[in-house]
Amino acid sequence: MSTFEDQLESLGEDARARAVLAELDHAAGAACASCAAVLCGHEAMISLVCGYKASPRCLTCVAVDMGLDAAQLRDRTWRYVHGRDCFLQGWREASRREGFSMDVRPPCLWSDKFAAPPTPSALPQGNAGSENTPLPLCGAEQERAHTAASAEWNAGTIACGELILELRSRLGRLPTGAVLLLVSLDPAAPEDIPAWCRLTGNGLAAADHPRYWIRAR
Ligand SMILES: [Zn+2]
Ligand SMILES: [Zn+2]
Repeated sequence: MSTFEDQLESLGEDARARAVLAELDHAAGAACASCAAVLCGHEAMISLVCGYKASPRCLTCVAVDMGLDAAQLRDRTWRYVHGRDCFLQGWREASRREGFSMDVRPPCLWSDKFAAPPTPSALPQGNAGSENTPLPLCGAEQERAHTAASAEWNAGTIACGELILELRSRLGRLPTGAVLLLVSLDPAAPEDIPAWCRLTGNGLAAADHPRYWIRAR
């Protein structure tokens, strides 16, 4: 049986991008699983990167479900996809299909409908470094996390959207503050997992590739 992640693994970077584009084809134009609004391609990508691949939602509904402000989630996702090749290609393709220049913030999401919140996270373009700084890990906290993991998941070589979908689902089944020990052999994990934790507000208690101790939000 050939699974989605087998395909990603066997075919490399191009195939990863193609898998993301297939998801764009699948979810863009579909109805939000929560409010039935028609999803644009960027909302399809936001659903994919936030772990809502199985039930794509509009920006507003993903933000509500995650307990985040929509504009804040949108801005964080913008920065996140611009650091991840496999998602960036999908994001740019969404812009192309919607008639926007590939490297501007697409007006479908950067409109009055989603006013930026008056928080430090609404940084002007070009000053987006703060959320990309490596998370300082204190040794004592690492030790506690190591011993306190209440769940464990060996994700093997699963990558991109599939990893995130399953990770979100597993974290969602844990009580707030519980630690999931994730083992991921995906070579992009050392960058992807910390960035995804920042994006979603889950705490990365410790990391020692291929092991990641993630505290459920
Ligand atoms: Zn919705
Ligand atoms: Zn759009």
